Amino acid sequence: MSILSDRTRLISSATRRGGGRRSVSPPIERASTMLSDSAGTMRDPSLGPVYGLDGGSAAQALRQAIADLEGAAEAWLVPSGLAAVTAPLSALLRPGDEVIATDAVYGPSRRFITRWLGARGVTSTFHPADASADAIAGLITSRTRLILIESPSSLTFEVIDVARLAEAARARGVLTVMDNTWGAGLAFKPLAHGIDVSVQAVTKYAAGHSDLLMGAIAVKDRDVGRQIDGTLEDMGWHVSPDDAWLALRGIRTLPLRYAEQARSALKIAHWLAARAEVATVLYPPLQTDPGHEIWKRDYCGAASVMGLVMKGGDAAAAERFLDGLSLFGLGWSWGGFESLATHETGQLAHRLRPPALPGELLRLHVGLEDPDDLIADLERGLGAWRGG
Ligand SMILES: *Cc1c(COP(=O)(O)O)cnc(C)c1O
Repeated sequence: MSILSDRTRLISSATRRGGGRRSVSPPIERASTMLSDSAGTMRDPSLGPVYGLDGGSAAQALRQAIADLEGAAEAWLVPSGLAAVTAPLSALLRPGDEVIATDAVYGPSRRFITRWLGARGVTSTFHPADASADAIAGLITSRTRLILIESPSSLTFEVIDVARLAEAARARGVLTVMDNTWGAGLAFKPLAHGIDVSVQAVTKYAAGHSDLLMGAIAVKDRDVGRQIDGTLEDMGWHVSPDDAWLALRGIRTLPLRYAEQARSALKIAHWLAARAEVATVLYPPLQTDPGHEIWKRDYCGAASVMGLVMKGGDAAAAERFLDGLSLFGLGWSWGGFESLATHETGQLAHRLRPPALPGELLRLHVGLEDPDDLIADLERGLGAWRGG
């Protein structure tokens, strides 16, 4: 499915005929309580939400847009990207089960697996960040119930052959959940590659404006969907109608922002890769990246976030670099319209096998600014890096 058809679909869902005279954007219904006309219709779901927890028009429209994007039978919204990971794991794992995830998994997902699931009798195995699909499948035991896939992974961006791993898992009766925040439901379609549950932090590209937190969960299989739906009901999680409305506004321009930011990111990645201060740029669209071949085969676009491995340096040099930047904001996220920079070396210490890097690890998120202005800013940052 091309980005072009996603572009059209995300817009045309707003102008679909048959809804009567109405505003282009749905109303924001701030409601706990919904009123009915008669006692006999109070429980009738065909007349709309019965209670605020069921979600209003904006949430329903956003759920449908994400389901369309993911090629899903159904999609749900949850209060954060982290909740989009923890909900399906909570729904699908039982005491005695084992979950496999990459050693490079998003930090809070790892914490949930080891601390929360661990305390409830679910054991975990973390595979090397650069393991092949076959090597990961080789770790499956009789107790393995689920594999949490993150590709490209957090901070070091290793790319996995998802279809191959999903097939091997399915053959062994193991469920797969993929954190597709990097692909944003756009550059990669997990469900079409055999994944059971595709999740993403809507917080990042879909919302796109760094002004809300939300996650989305998408499934193809109705039975898996029922288990997740039941768990969400049990948890009582809710997404605010204002946030759903903002995310719906954001998702209309997702394909354009995503493609433009990727174009700028590639230009910047090439510029950085040629710099004497830089050892490697970790970004799958670069031909030098270990994940490039799989990315080129499976993806039709790229996120605009990259790892910057420096030649040597120390924490003080990394701080000088960050303080030398004026256009890049200093903040822990990505996917918004604005460029961001962080120092990530410390995060690697949480891994069982931290990668042997020749220097400090920085992360850059490229926003919608003019890439030449960002390059000039990075030139200033590198000057400060050298200057200590
Ligand atoms: C940011 C992020 C999340 C969590 O999203 P929040 O909305 O911040 O909870 C999950 N997975 C990945 C890969 C992320 O980058």
